[in-house]
Amino acid sequence: MARHRKPLIAGNWKMNLGLAESEALAKQIKSSLPETPHCDIALFAPFTALGAVRAVVSSTPIWLGAQNVFWEKSGPFTGEISALQLKDAGCQAVLIGHSERRVIFGEKSADLRKKIGAVLDVGLFPVLCVGETLQEHQAQKAREVITSQIQEAIAEFTRQKLKSLTIAYEPVWAIGTGKTATPGQAQGMHDFIRNRLAALFDNEFSLQTRIIYGGSVKTDNIDALMAEPDIDGVLVGGESLKADSFIRIINFARRAIHV
Ligand code: PEP
Repeated sequence: MARHRKPLIAGNWKMNLGLAESEALAKQIKSSLPETPHCDIALFAPFTALGAVRAVVSSTPIWLGAQNVFWEKSGPFTGEISALQLKDAGCQAVLIGHSERRVIFGEKSADLRKKIGAVLDVGLFPVLCVGETLQEHQAQKAREVITSQIQEAIAEFTRQKLKSLTIAYEPVWAIGTGKTATPGQAQGMHDFIRNRLAALFDNEFSLQTRIIYGGSVKTDNIDALMAEPDIDGVLVGGESLKADSFIRIINFARRAIHV
């Protein structure tokens, strides 16, 4: 069956790579791409490397992404970066509410709602990360947690405003741990999230919204993940720092969606 949603393969470089390394990695990825890639590709680079990566990807279909944003437009917010500044730096997409931001920096849904609003107001694409911790997973609370994370972050917007939203389901117990949700587990949660979107807005919105999976995605599990009908791409941490692996992940995705 044809997929409605173009896959998104995204790399989250986190707090890694200097300028020369960022530039080299972006160049390797760029040189491996076909002229018209079968999927959208985004590189969430560190703030310091946005300029260097922009110079490499600006005339390519690769999106430049930032890993965080502050919701105010400008002013006395030392150390923060606004959505407009990110746009100015050449970004197209922004990660919102990555679990490391939620867990280490205490970001709450109310903050994420404001960040999503700020990003949408300047025409950038928000990628909202949701996911349950190991404790919540073991207590069978995953669905409850995901429902409130989604509802609190996006329910106040109209579905028209949220047209460019991507949701990344990233079970916290699978991030950087080498443990991956099985394709079946991930598919089950993506299907659940799609149903939540339909309940919050409507069916059409739920069918058009990309839901990507993150959590120890590797070259040996990408194929099976991408073969699931509700997995519309992946957010890759560790393996996105290795050009060969990330390129293989992009290409495995192509193989999987063509079968
Ligand atoms: C992430 O940081 O979003 C992530 C999924 O990391 P990893 O692929 O390393 O688990």
